[in-house]
Amino acid sequence: MGLRHAADIRSLLWVVIAATLVALQLARPELAPYLFWVSCYFALACGVMAHNHNHCPTFHSKSSNEVFGIVLSVFYGYPTFAWIPTHNLNHHKFVNRAGDATITWRYTNKHSFWIALSYPFVSGYYQAEPTKMFIDRAREKNPKLYRRIITQYVTWLGTHIVLLAVAVVAHGWKTGLFAWALCCLIPALFALWTIMLFNYEQHVHTDPWSEHNHSRSFVSPTLNFLLFNNGYHAAHHEHPGVHWTKLAPLHAEMAKDIDPRLMHTSVWWYWFRQYALAWWLPQLGTVQVGRAPFDPPDGGQLDLASGDVDASEMGTNAAMVR
Ligand SMILES: [Zn+2]
Repeated sequence: MGLRHAADIRSLLWVVIAATLVALQLARPELAPYLFWVSCYFALACGVMAHNHNHCPTFHSKSSNEVFGIVLSVFYGYPTFAWIPTHNLNHHKFVNRAGDATITWRYTNKHSFWIALSYPFVSGYYQAEPTKMFIDRAREKNPKLYRRIITQYVTWLGTHIVLLAVAVVAHGWKTGLFAWALCCLIPALFALWTIMLFNYEQHVHTDPWSEHNHSRSFVSPTLNFLLFNNGYHAAHHEHPGVHWTKLAPLHAEMAKDIDPRLMHTSVWWYWFRQYALAWWLPQLGTVQVGRAPFDPPDGGQLDLASGDVDASEMGTNAAMVR
């Protein structure tokens, strides 16, 4: 099948299930209110897979990788090339320091429910700039990459238009739109918002100047099964190009060097403690661990504008950018 890692059979299976769920809900709209939340999970899983795929390509062949990226984008809600300027070339380079478009402390370093809730919107807004810069550079200097970007936009948007049209033709405007919104639109928006929320949780109150305390990790086996080891975030930042199956042993090796305050078992307990209990008992909430991202050891100036991203430097294989 051309997979680089046999474990990615599960990635393919997840995509087949995600597609089957959409087909089922479009064929039988009365099932959508019961199934759309399952689609929300699979859309989120596709977002995580898109992240993994951009760091470590799933297939040997370039064209299979391109097609897989496009398929994932249909569920995840945005063309997958956008991971490159906002994540690979930006977030991984600056790691929540000035220059990272996704900094968790843009307006405040406070960690509250309202900041977490609004963070994906703020982060999404600021990610538009490096994305535009990347597209502009590709148009000027890298026509092959520019064609790939346009192809991703056209196929992503085109597929959604076709799915909506199929639903409307089969069930009429009202029911068709309802079914499409429940099985496609809402899961995609949920996935985009949640992926950005995860980025917030994985970096708020961490120390980007530290060797190992730059990220917060979630080590629950269930969460890591459901989200393809996305919980091992410190290990991911230190080994961004390794396959997701290797993150658990890498985390086990470095866990002794990570501040225990940055390792959590259950994300649900972490959220409950942070956003419910800490409301009344602030001492239960997270605190800045080590040096704050806005406090450079050399005392340098802080420039919150996004760092530069150059599309021409990276050739055309997105998956090569780690
Ligand atoms: Zn990453």
